[in-house]
Amino acid sequence: MRNRAVHAGRAWAWVGLLAIVGFLILPDGNASAIYYDVVEFALVGAMVVGVLRNRPAAIVGWSLLIAGSFASAVADAMFDVYALALHDDSWPGPWDVAYLLGYLFTASGLCVLLLRRNRGSGYAGLVDSLLIGVACSLLSWVFLIRYIAAGETMGTLGHAVTLAYPSLDLVVLALVTWLLTTDGARRAAFQLLVAAMVAALIADYLWAFIDMTSYDPALSVGRFVSASFLLAFLLQAMAITHPGMVEVGQPTPTPATRAMPWARVGLMACAVLIAPVLLAWQALTGNGTVRDALPIAVASAAMFLLGLTRMTMLIRRLHQQARVMQQQAERLRELAEQDPLTGLPNRRIWDVALPAALARATRDGAPVSVAIVDLDHFKAFNDLHGHQMGDRLLKEAAAAWADGLRAGDLLARYGGEEFVALLPDTDEVEAGDVLDRLRGRTPMGCTFSAGLATWDGRENGEALLSRADRALYHAKATGRDRVERAEAPRPLPPQEPRTESRQAAKT
Ligand code: GH3
Ligand code: MG
Ligand code: MG
Repeated sequence: MRNRAVHAGRAWAWVGLLAIVGFLILPDGNASAIYYDVVEFALVGAMVVGVLRNRPAAIVGWSLLIAGSFASAVADAMFDVYALALHDDSWPGPWDVAYLLGYLFTASGLCVLLLRRNRGSGYAGLVDSLLIGVACSLLSWVFLIRYIAAGETMGTLGHAVTLAYPSLDLVVLALVTWLLTTDGARRAAFQLLVAAMVAALIADYLWAFIDMTSYDPALSVGRFVSASFLLAFLLQAMAITHPGMVEVGQPTPTPATRAMPWARVGLMACAVLIAPVLLAWQALTGNGTVRDALPIAVASAAMFLLGLTRMTMLIRRLHQQARVMQQQAERLRELAEQDPLTGLPNRRIWDVALPAALARATRDGAPVSVAIVDLDHFKAFNDLHGHQMGDRLLKEAAAAWADGLRAGDLLARYGGEEFVALLPDTDEVEAGDVLDRLRGRTPMGCTFSAGLATWDGRENGEALLSRADRALYHAKATGRDRVERAEAPRPLPPQEPRTESRQAAKT
């Protein structure tokens, strides 16, 4: 399929190029004019066939582009009929309507393709291309449009029509720049379309200069310009007949981590420097008088505002990304600290909370109790009712027990069907009451055994918990469904005499 497309593309290119060379070889006159028009209409026909065969989703955009080419071909044919057959070369003529319609169709077609291609990836590319468009408009004004506007023999309509061409060229230029900034497939069809637009723009600007300098278009330069228009038709026909054209109107999401390409940064830098460079150049060559002060001021203001817009968009995007990252970080922390089944804090939290509670109790002199809670015969429950029911029991028990604790207490899942409770400001008697209350809350008719230990004011968290663990074993061993209080901590081993005193004893 791909190979066929490549072969077809090559064949196309050769036939088209031969047709263009044919036009260049033919002597100027009726024959070459008819030849030119026939080639143009043939290429428009090929474009129609291309759309019918490729059936792109962006059919409206492509149809508008074809309508643009068709309108231009009609305008060329009208011009030839009027000039060659009717010897009427009054100006502006009715063909100008068709030419200008051609521009509008082309610009609308590009717009439709761009909006589809750009879906979901924001309008940063549009702002960049507008900035480049403004810079080109300034150049176009200083070197082209101001001379056309100053022409005296045209009349209002003539002025309007002559100014419309370079102005619409600027619109197409901005759209092509926007096309180049879009993400998405940039394969052969995309490149051919861009090349077609660039060829047409170059030909248009050359034509405008030839017109401005009263160069006879019948001479060789004029024929090369006409050949460039044919080349633009050929490239567009190649783009539309290429099977890859369906991807041109398809969006692809912008990767969030992609940096702005250096070529684009360089282009933007050149664009924003055009105004100050023109200003300096006109001031230096005009002995302090700046001929285009107002257009330069307007263009500079527009570029400043576009730059500001771009910056605001970037800052907003940064804020958005920061918000998303913050949410993700919070979620990650929750996941890291939460037991996924019961939603209770996990051991990670427990390992931090217990020493913190003991440190606080050291300062306040308040009691702290801890308990290890273990469901009785949970394995048998699982075997009898299934693992899913076991999970449900764990979830419901965790919720019921957590509900029966005070706000300052902590219940964490220690692993399997074992839970740990941290009860600050609670002595052994109160803690026993709390655990008895929790026993009554155990769902599905199940019971638990618990080992309870109250801090002795000196031991560390590990020692405290292992006392509670021993008490739990005792509770299991003595029949389950009970709370067993831990034994008092073992007395500390007698302290080693300090080195100095030992040494003092020796001496
Ligand atoms: P005892 O009364 O002596 O504590 O007996 P037991 O059956 O409760 O204790 P044992 O340690 O023999 O078994 C614990 C069971 O808990 C075994 C294991 O399959 C089950 N278990 C551990 N984690 C989960 C879990 O997340 N979901 C379910 N459904 N079962 C679990
Ligand atoms: Mg257990
Ligand atoms: Mg158990």
